[in-house]
Amino acid sequence: LARNPGEDEFHQAVREVFDSLPRVLAKRPEYTEASILQRLCEPERQIIFRVPWVDDNGRVQINRGFRVQFNSALGPYKGGLRFHPTVMLGTVKFLGFEQIFKNALTGMPIGGGKGGSDFDPKGKSDGEIMRFCQSFMTELSQHLGEYTDVPAGDIGVGGREIGYLFGQYKRMTNAYESGVLTGKGLTWGGSLVRTEATGYGTVFFARRMLELAGRSLDGAKVLVSGSGNVAIYAAEKVKEFGGLVVGASDSAGSIYDPEGIDLDLLRDIKERRRDRISAYADERLGAQYRDGRRVWSVADETPIDVALPCATQNEISESDAKSLLNGGVTAVAEGANMPTTPEAVRLFRDAGVLFAPGKAANAGGVATSALEMQQNASRDSWSFEYTEQRLSDIMDGIHERCAETAEEYGTPGDYVLGANIAGFTRVADAMLALGVI
Ligand code: NDP
Repeated sequence: LARNPGEDEFHQAVREVFDSLPRVLAKRPEYTEASILQRLCEPERQIIFRVPWVDDNGRVQINRGFRVQFNSALGPYKGGLRFHPTVMLGTVKFLGFEQIFKNALTGMPIGGGKGGSDFDPKGKSDGEIMRFCQSFMTELSQHLGEYTDVPAGDIGVGGREIGYLFGQYKRMTNAYESGVLTGKGLTWGGSLVRTEATGYGTVFFARRMLELAGRSLDGAKVLVSGSGNVAIYAAEKVKEFGGLVVGASDSAGSIYDPEGIDLDLLRDIKERRRDRISAYADERLGAQYRDGRRVWSVADETPIDVALPCATQNEISESDAKSLLNGGVTAVAEGANMPTTPEAVRLFRDAGVLFAPGKAANAGGVATSALEMQQNASRDSWSFEYTEQRLSDIMDGIHERCAETAEEYGTPGDYVLGANIAGFTRVADAMLALGVI
């Protein structure tokens, strides 16, 4: 705490993992002898830099850029870039820390890192976004490479931003090094299914978790928070599996549509027009817009079976969890990173709700990024069906790893403990093998 003042979200993420570890530390004293926990908390490298750019009025603007290269015991640093005005070092460190264990859980050779900027893409012109991305990459490019560090998207960073970042990297290095970024467009090195992967993967995980408990998504009423990349494709897959998504949101408010969200309309508003979600209720008969209210409040009025938080950290508070429990929720799968506060997690677990933590449930995005890297390395591109099947198999594998580990440590059904221990031991064993570095 004293060493990292003001980094509340980072402290929260560390505490959440370490709370699961006493039993594994008792069983494996070599982790303590090699100071694995202390080493895990200290990023291998943190880069903070100035990002100057010129806005449409000719004024010079300054933002701050970050890249935290947290742990490379398993492979090159891998993790997204977030552009949002709330981004600070503690945000990037919490995300990077989570990423280490998430990446380990995929079973793929990727280390953990994260980056971003306090730049706010909202309301910026295309030209401003491009000039910002070019300036950001001018500095960051020195620290990247296919074998070193491979960023991807996150909040505020989608296909358009990855394009501008990749273009600048290519220009600066005079090399078409496709493997240096993932989330690329399909005609310039991207992989099919990468766009859909995090949302789809979360639903694959939820489906497996429900199946094991003798339940299913078919006929389930579902709330999804957010209306960005993860939320939209989670909703799409829920629908494909027979569920009814009745609510979604953005940072200004939420919508409730008892007939089920019209995904074509939502995508048109959010992806094409880049408009607010309130426009949905203006255009869809029977839908309600709830200004300034989180989507979980829908559960106060109608029964809900499954909640998929897909927006941002700490978006399910204790009172939101109470609303969901009153509404009869039986499963929660985190598409976002750390969206559920510790108090809310406790309430869900005490109530016997099936709970899939983000580092397991949303690992499909980074796993498919690793598949993109494989395709780039072999100059190949796989079909949608093949790539989606790989994603589905990877999510089932992560599910089995978490479930078996929870069982081994005497807490069957505890996916939080299972994910934390399974991710931790894979990284810790690699760190032991590599010596004190
Ligand atoms: P997007 O930027 O595409 O969408 C984010 C959504 O969440 C938007 O609807 C946004 O609303 C809403 N949101 C963002 N910040 C807040 C806030 N402070 N309060 C309320 N709502 C907010 O991001 P992604 O869909 O890519 O990411 C969503 C989550 O999933 C994040 O936690 C991210 O770390 C995680 N994740 C993403 C992966 C990926 O592959 N993209 C991989 C693994 C995890 P608005 O438009 O109003 O800002």
